[in-house]
Amino acid sequence: MIIKPKFRGFICTTAHPAGCERQVLKQIDYVRSQSAINGPKKVLVIGASTGYGLASRITAAFGAGADTIGVFFERPSSGNRTATAGWYNSAAFEKAAQQAGLFAKSINGDAFSNEIKQQTIELIKQEWGQVDLVVYSLAAPKRVHPVTGEVFSSVLKPIGQTFTNKTVDFHTEEVSQISIEPATEEEIRHTIAVMGGEDWKMWIDALLEAGVLADGARTVAYSYIGPEVTHPVYRAGTVGRAKDHLEATAHELDAQLKPIGGQAFVSVNKALVTQSSSAIPVVPLYISLLYKVMKEKGLHEGCIEQMYRLFNERLYTGKDVPVDDKGRIRIDDWEMREDVQAEVSANWPKVDSDNLKEISDIEGYRKEFFQLFGFDLDGVDYEAETEADVRVPSLD
Ligand code: NAD
Repeated sequence: MIIKPKFRGFICTTAHPAGCERQVLKQIDYVRSQSAINGPKKVLVIGASTGYGLASRITAAFGAGADTIGVFFERPSSGNRTATAGWYNSAAFEKAAQQAGLFAKSINGDAFSNEIKQQTIELIKQEWGQVDLVVYSLAAPKRVHPVTGEVFSSVLKPIGQTFTNKTVDFHTEEVSQISIEPATEEEIRHTIAVMGGEDWKMWIDALLEAGVLADGARTVAYSYIGPEVTHPVYRAGTVGRAKDHLEATAHELDAQLKPIGGQAFVSVNKALVTQSSSAIPVVPLYISLLYKVMKEKGLHEGCIEQMYRLFNERLYTGKDVPVDDKGRIRIDDWEMREDVQAEVSANWPKVDSDNLKEISDIEGYRKEFFQLFGFDLDGVDYEAETEADVRVPSLD
């Protein structure tokens, strides 16, 4: 079929296999162009098909020469529907890993469930025995609790009071005001249940109990802080509460891993265009302003540059992992630099639909958004007949 982008709200409902493959290969090329990482050799990535998790998997495999198991929740193609981008990304990743002689297997299913945890443990036992790094990079709208069966839905809302600020619709490039009503206590509880640390702990508990974590094993999950302007809707809002919980869980897991000489970390990453972040109000406008400033200063990074720096300059340097006063790894350091934030803050009150193109990188934002689904990439013939039914070899 001929595959074009189709939208429903913020979501692109189609994906292009050749474009997704190109994106994955670009990330692999980046990692290969950097110096090798003296890092982990058996890596489990939970949330491995897009965004930060995919970049972690690529960095582990092609930067440190690691064998990887990736867990994700993606849809293959069926009839005249394309697969999801994460499916095509994983197909491309496995193909490239095989060519490079690296072990790569994937598990497609609900990572919140006991079944998928057990299936993963079985695979580790069968193939490796033990893992030495567990990356936890899930971003999900819903979670079914594996014990109680309760269905939780996460919301992106402020807490305590209505939040009104600017936002951008990057399809129409219109800047407008948005007001978001505060979350109820129930919505806060739900969001913590989906995006907090409970499931991360369930994974580590299960892996420890099964004896599949190697001595000295590490685990890392990802968090975000960001500037004051997004605090009401992010860090001081419902998702921020979940991130507080995730960060507190890192301390618990760290203590739990002590007996095997292991460690647990949270890494605070940079704001980037991913399927998850594009759904947050206000944040895409901030990212557009941020990209402009960071690109001008030569500081811009995408997921792959961030994850390479996380592995190479934080987690696997052979020295103690540098952390902030709350024990968190910070690779949002360039985003949060005073000069960067000063420029973004100066532009925030000024930005409107008329000057958006001039003072923000809305073009870059849009392009990256399309590229998440394999569109708008150089060297891909979007008019060509394309086979949408692509195999992820290990899922056959
Ligand atoms: P993403 O949407 O690109 O990736 C989410 C991953 O989770 C995908 O692999 C998806 O398949 C998987 N997933 C979702 N539900 C699942 C389920 N039920 N079972 C199995 N897999 C499931 O998201 P992202 O932006 O890369 O976010 C990853 C983490 O990084 C999140 O914790 C997020 O808060 C954090 N983070 C993101 C940003 C940002 O700007 N995007 C910044 C800092 C931190």
